[in-house]
Amino acid sequence: MFDNLSDKLDKAFHILKGHGKITEVNVAETLKEVRRALLDADVNFKIAKDFTTKVKEKAIGQNVLTTLQPGQLLVKLVKDELTELMGGDVAGINLSGNPTVILMSGLQGSGKTTFSGKLANYLQTKKGKKPLLVACDIYRPAAIQQLYVVGDSMAVEVYSEPENKNPVEIAQNAIKHAKANGFNVVIVDTAGRLAVDEAMMTEISNVHKAIQPQETLFVVDAMTGQDAVNTAKAFNDILNFDGVVLTKLDGDTRGGAAISIKSVVNKPIKFVGTGEKMDAIDVFYPERMAERILG
Ligand code: GDP
Repeated sequence: MFDNLSDKLDKAFHILKGHGKITEVNVAETLKEVRRALLDADVNFKIAKDFTTKVKEKAIGQNVLTTLQPGQLLVKLVKDELTELMGGDVAGINLSGNPTVILMSGLQGSGKTTFSGKLANYLQTKKGKKPLLVACDIYRPAAIQQLYVVGDSMAVEVYSEPENKNPVEIAQNAIKHAKANGFNVVIVDTAGRLAVDEAMMTEISNVHKAIQPQETLFVVDAMTGQDAVNTAKAFNDILNFDGVVLTKLDGDTRGGAAISIKSVVNKPIKFVGTGEKMDAIDVFYPERMAERILG
């Protein structure tokens, strides 16, 4: 995960090695390489620039050059800033409400259906919940079928109304069904499109207003880099969502989305998807991720 970025940051810090005493020039050179590494990882230009400016200010504030191990301190400052950029503290999922209603949003192919299943599995096995999965994709019968396959694999019930073309009604009926049958979490999987379009936004916005979920999660494919960040912005403008799910982190992603998304939409990354199987879900810990990136 993020191997290329890790390598480049490692090389940036090499500048500081082999010097008995490091100078302001060495620090500036290192931070320039750090910025280049972030840009190569598809981090937005302004974010990368602000990042190195902040690290530089902290380095000056803490008199890095006069400390015993200036190189190590600089690495720590970069790590802290990276952690902060990715959200600081870990953001939990809000499980209040009876049932807790969780709405999934995102483009087609982002991994919504797979993640809905993973989340149901996580809540069932790790949190002792009784989840209900709801198929609200009224356009693609294959998507409904896919949710059944996912649900069946974990013995989680799936609610659908194949003849009903009104996703608001389906979601509302599902919540009624959950209340009547002792489900304490309702996970609503919605229809995506290949790109942001008005009809999709209106539809999900109507579902959102009608069911007032405790958690609205935006699911995005980490491999799409800057596009992931732009799509997040479009969905957040409409839904004011609560958190981000970054999928496909097991792939050859450069890391830009993971690093930039929080500062663009000011919403935390809550979970990551790391594979196609139902247990390939992790809670997102910004600090652990920063440690991993810095190797
Ligand atoms: P949806 O259209 O948003 O519901 O997306 P799907 O859940 O159907 O996922 C699209 C494709 O991405 C499927 O082939 C999934 O198996 C795959 N996928 C989803 N999440 C992950 C992940 O975390 N890692 C990998 N490698 N593949 C994933």
